[in-house]
Amino acid sequence: MNWVTILWSANAATCLSLGSIQLLAWFHDRSKTDRLCFALAAFGTAGIATCELLMMQAESVAQFNPALRWLHAAAWVTFVSLIGFVHSHLHAGRLWLSSLAIATRSLSLLINFLLPINLNYREMFGLSHLQFLNQSISTANGIPSPWMLTGQLALTLFLLFVIDATITCWRRGDPRQSLILGGTIVFFVFAATLQVILVFWELFVSPITASLFFFGIVLAMGYALSRDLLHATQLTQELQHAERQSHAQTLELAHLSRIALLNELSASLAHELNQPLTVILSNAQAAQRFLAQPHPNYPELSEALQDIVTANHHASTVIQHLRTLFKKGPPQLQSLQINDVLLAALSLLQSDLRHSHTIVETHLAENLPPITGDRVQLAQVFLNLLTNARDAMAKQPTPKKIIVTTTLLPNLHIRVRVHDSGPGIPPHQLQQIFQPFFTTKIHGLGLGLGLCQSLLASHHSLLSAENHPNGGACFHFSLPSITHSNP
Ligand code: ADP
Repeated sequence: MNWVTILWSANAATCLSLGSIQLLAWFHDRSKTDRLCFALAAFGTAGIATCELLMMQAESVAQFNPALRWLHAAAWVTFVSLIGFVHSHLHAGRLWLSSLAIATRSLSLLINFLLPINLNYREMFGLSHLQFLNQSISTANGIPSPWMLTGQLALTLFLLFVIDATITCWRRGDPRQSLILGGTIVFFVFAATLQVILVFWELFVSPITASLFFFGIVLAMGYALSRDLLHATQLTQELQHAERQSHAQTLELAHLSRIALLNELSASLAHELNQPLTVILSNAQAAQRFLAQPHPNYPELSEALQDIVTANHHASTVIQHLRTLFKKGPPQLQSLQINDVLLAALSLLQSDLRHSHTIVETHLAENLPPITGDRVQLAQVFLNLLTNARDAMAKQPTPKKIIVTTTLLPNLHIRVRVHDSGPGIPPHQLQQIFQPFFTTKIHGLGLGLGLCQSLLASHHSLLSAENHPNGGACFHFSLPSITHSNP
């Protein structure tokens, strides 16, 4: 089995794959410089492995020498990328030290290509063959070049840089991260440097296996990046959980706020129900009287019965709206006519608004396309806006007027506007009023507008407030119609 070929090829292939994955990840998020550095370091390591394999399989000095020369180019890429990785991932390391290391390494690369042979040999006599992993491989015989010391100086500076960055990271309170990454880089680079020195100064007979050491570094870097990814995934899950919880709490709050609002309206709602009941009673009594006559007046009897039916219908509509609003449950999206939802909310407030001498003027566009939404949530938005308008005009002299408008916009959104004739909103409070617990009312909670915003946000809409040039506050939002969503 050709173990050397298999091992070195597998090393190069793994580095290329890992590097490509991280390069793609970097393309998606260019701010993650450590991913780019990882990719380049992995590609550099694949280059070193390829050159080492070519050197081991060389049959002549003419084949060995170019492979060794280009190995330095690949090593330069790995070297610079590792420095970049340490800077960007550990957020540590002295810039002057890394710059000096890169400058020295670049100088040694330049010398490598300028010298007649290469950085490592002043003269090369030939190749010798030795058994390595049960395979015959080539190593070079020659006179070592003193220029090699520039490369080794660069590696020493690099080691100092990594040790310094590791200590900084450790002191900052991340011993695990600094130990895994910094420790691994220092260990493998030191081992690779030692081996290179021993082999080239002919103190130890072995092929150059720097790529295996760098492979260890690539794995440690990959582990550090995947830890970040795991951490990010964990954070995303926690965030999603928190979002779900916050959504559930918003719904709970919306329900409680609805109950509080209906409680506040209870007196006028009782009146709203009392009215049809009185109509029913008086018409039923009238009908009894008509029937008791010897010649019953049938047209009048029929009119009384019709009034009973109408009053009953009105009462059951109010009860139906109330039941819907009291109901607690998950939102139910359905196709809705926004004008119907608005009129239902107005019907609940009718007595209350009459009692506070407030006139409501409606300008509702006809034949509006339906929207998709939750009836209860949208009704709650209307109730909040209308009761806020009522409260704002509480101290105003009559006429107190609320103008509600629905319009179909050219982009097929339906714009809803609630404009009152109150004092308006002080300009510096235009944003504040949406913040939770902001209220200017004695018994206010300051949750209504914030809730309206959340409820509308789940309908892909945004509630805005402004002061109308003719006076009064104006709240508006636009809802996408079904026609817009399904062109
Ligand atoms: P609350 O009604 O409990 O005060 P909201 O969030 O509904 O809570 O309203 C917050 C504040 O926004 C109100 O206290 C009021 O100062 C201001 N506001 C809301 N609607 C109007 C309006 N139509 N005109 C003037 N101010 C308003």
